[in-house]
Amino acid sequence: MRATTLYAPTLRETPAEAEVKSHQLMLRAGMIRKAAGGLYTYMPLAWRTLKKIMQIVREEMDEAGGQEIAMPIVQPSEIWKETGRWSVYGDEMFRVSDRHGREFCLGPTHEEMVTTLIRDEVRSYKQLPLMLYQIQNKYRDEIRPRFGLMRGREFIMKDLYSFDKDEEGMNESYKKMYDAYTRVFSRMGLEFRPVEADNGAIGGGHSHEFTVLAEAGESNIAYCTKCDYAASDEKAELTVIKAPEEDMMELEKVSTPDAHTIELVAKCLNLPLDKTIKAVAFQSEQDELVLAFVRGDHDVNDVKVLNLFDEIIDLHMASDEAIAAAGGVAGFMSPIGIKEGTKVVVDATVMEMYNACAGANEKDMHFINVNPKRDFKDVIVADIRMVKEGDACPHCGAPVKMTRGIEAGQVFTLGTKYSESLHATFLDENGREKPLVMGCYGIGVSRTMAAAIEQNNDENGIIWPRAIAPFEVVVVPVNAKNDDQLRIAEEIYTELKAKGVDVLIDDRKERPGVKFKDADLIGYPLRITVGPKAVDEDSVELKVRRNGEMVNVTKAEAAAKAVEMLEEL
Ligand code: ATP
Ligand code: MG
Repeated sequence: MRATTLYAPTLRETPAEAEVKSHQLMLRAGMIRKAAGGLYTYMPLAWRTLKKIMQIVREEMDEAGGQEIAMPIVQPSEIWKETGRWSVYGDEMFRVSDRHGREFCLGPTHEEMVTTLIRDEVRSYKQLPLMLYQIQNKYRDEIRPRFGLMRGREFIMKDLYSFDKDEEGMNESYKKMYDAYTRVFSRMGLEFRPVEADNGAIGGGHSHEFTVLAEAGESNIAYCTKCDYAASDEKAELTVIKAPEEDMMELEKVSTPDAHTIELVAKCLNLPLDKTIKAVAFQSEQDELVLAFVRGDHDVNDVKVLNLFDEIIDLHMASDEAIAAAGGVAGFMSPIGIKEGTKVVVDATVMEMYNACAGANEKDMHFINVNPKRDFKDVIVADIRMVKEGDACPHCGAPVKMTRGIEAGQVFTLGTKYSESLHATFLDENGREKPLVMGCYGIGVSRTMAAAIEQNNDENGIIWPRAIAPFEVVVVPVNAKNDDQLRIAEEIYTELKAKGVDVLIDDRKERPGVKFKDADLIGYPLRITVGPKAVDEDSVELKVRRNGEMVNVTKAEAAAKAVEMLEEL
């Protein structure tokens, strides 16, 4: 490919609307252009990278036993009504109707579609296991489309669905996909972690998110410094911390004027934070109050609290009135004296505290010498705190560290949730009718491209891992008006193409500075510079984008050396 014919209009200025690096750099490198909020055109460079990502994904899905299909993006509402998700999906679903007024949606995901596809044809255990996948656009009318391709309203996803005869088979399929995902992200040259994830609304089974490590990520991950445990902060399990045993002293009420935060209370009473108990009051969508208590130096994990109650769909901050109705006072709450029947959840670590301080459910008053085991009645005890750096790994006990990442893929076991509601059954070995046991596995292809850039860039631009670079090598004749330079560059270019290298020649008659800047911005892993020295001294320069490493070789050696260097990138 020649730069003179490549459609990649680069920008010198950083577009003001782009907040994150990947969005800025893709706009500047002429890779994408916005059509409307969350809707982008992929220009040639981006499309080349996306095709490489899709190819890697495809190869690994096929290798793991997947078969590629292509289902319609436009899906009839009827199948979504069968599972009840037509109403549950809410505003995130793009809905359309045809000329007859029939309702459809643009697929945000395809569990309904794929399950109804096979329910009439897969009848016997002999047809299982089955794995079907596709790579196509998905549509979600996100509340806040942002960060360019990271959270689009139209985006490319690989979605695979597994069907097995029993739970054991499902777990095997899950393992195959987990391994395939590990290979996908390794082959792309990305630093990533599979993290134990909360599977939220889907409930039950297990789930991992494949997270590309990057500062701009929206996921917080706790990972062990010793073993390979990693989990999203919402999910990270925590062990109970036992405070040193003390004699339980008598409960006492003390005045703590204006101390409405736990820090102020600790200061006022001259106590360390880990001797205090703090409260968070939630209210459900049914306006039911849920009070949560953790140690003063800990934070409440609202996902863990929510997961304790099957009947609650959503929790938000409680109003002062709701708290008062249960006998509490905002800022001065404790489980002691709260109205009977109120849902009170206490972190397991709190139950192991002695002579602690907690609210007295009275304005400007706290209790001291609170001994939860003695004083808390009718409370639910569970792990409800948020992980923080230094907490013990639940697997090996070593301290965990926190990092940020971008969810690029997620694997789920679904069990029979969809097969039951959609009546997708088969006959087992004994002729008994059973629901199919399913799993679903997504990779955000376009988000992965953005994540790769978030992880690999510097002040000059993108630094592509070789496997997903739009071109592996750029050959730059410094002065394309110089016939000798251009000829040598063309020779190297032709030789590289013959060796199967994905190469671009920057044959534009631009100033060298412009060409070098563009090469850095677009981020080709290797640059071969053909300047006056190539003509006078038979010396060609090879430069690695990632670390600036430079090597000079003769023009005859250049292509072979480039191939050798690419092996390392
Ligand atoms: P998120 O929590 O980020 O909204 P999700 O958990 O809803 O994502 P899944 O349903 O698991 O997403 O979809 C599979 C993959 O599709 C995700 O891991 C992610 O890489 C990608 N993806 C999801 N939503 C978007 C989006 N709006 N834009 C780009 N990629 C997306
Ligand atoms: Mg997800």
